[in-house]
Amino acid sequence: MGRRFAQQQTLQAHQDSSSCPVCDGVRHRTVAALDRGHADQCLTCRLVSFQVKKGASFPERYYDPIELGLFEEYYGPFRRRTFTRLVKEIQRFLQTGRVLDIGCSFGWFLEVAAKAGFEVLGLEPSKEVVAIARDKRGLNVREGDVASAEELPGLYDIILLANVLEHLPNPFDNLRRLQSRLAANGLLVVIVPNVDGLIHRLTYWAHWLSANKLTWPLEVLFQTDSPSMHLYQFSETAIRRALTKAGYRVVHVYGQEVVEIDALDLRQAVAHRMRRNRLADIFIQEGVRCAQLVGRWVGRYDELVLFATPQEPDDGRQDGHG
Ligand SMILES: [Zn+2]
Repeated sequence: MGRRFAQQQTLQAHQDSSSCPVCDGVRHRTVAALDRGHADQCLTCRLVSFQVKKGASFPERYYDPIELGLFEEYYGPFRRRTFTRLVKEIQRFLQTGRVLDIGCSFGWFLEVAAKAGFEVLGLEPSKEVVAIARDKRGLNVREGDVASAEELPGLYDIILLANVLEHLPNPFDNLRRLQSRLAANGLLVVIVPNVDGLIHRLTYWAHWLSANKLTWPLEVLFQTDSPSMHLYQFSETAIRRALTKAGYRVVHVYGQEVVEIDALDLRQAVAHRMRRNRLADIFIQEGVRCAQLVGRWVGRYDELVLFATPQEPDDGRQDGHG
């Protein structure tokens, strides 16, 4: 109850801010109008912020218990594949060390990282998911979130925020405070949706072309039927500036795909979108498949992976009187 109230308070604060939290720009335009609110995009850094409508209601739980199995069936193999690449990329910087995965879900990254020799700890807000990751898989996972991560003792060599920042009402303060948990040569790894990815662009174009009538593709991207929907979508400029502003130096960026093309049936089931007819489903799946393929050719991926290190004091960021 208390936590829910707190979330509503912060959602309200998010809603009332008028300048861009990343670049302080004041020019923005509305790019989407949905049942649960609207999305504004900063004209300077292209950050998209979702403004939740007053009184909009959200379901209580992030994971519907019946759908946990489906969620794992779809995301498990997909995430293990993307996290295998991620661990390889990390090892170009750090061979081993202490890993903190905030919002670790079923612990797919922890599994891959532990196998590669890292010492791992995961925090996950969902009790049911913690039980699966810890009790069934024997992973070092505790119930917790970004706020509890800030209170952990000791320092971590790698902190991962995979698909987490977009859910937080004020991710920019969290990024800054997390620095206190990162070792001096540590790596902060963030994975966020890319508003300039091809699937995102096509979804916005379709919404615009239909005079805001076609809303469900954007509702899927924003996860508006989840109690913790996406409140932000980032451009590469926006996430780079957010990290720099929070006191980090970006050292590596790459793009990755957002859907598992060979399991689109499952993805649609996860997104509660099985109510349409079979022909529509096939049409949508083929559309997504083409968009993602073309996105790969032209390098417009729908997810961005960024590595950042704490800025050194002489990196040029001197607050106030120098
Ligand atoms: Zn901005």
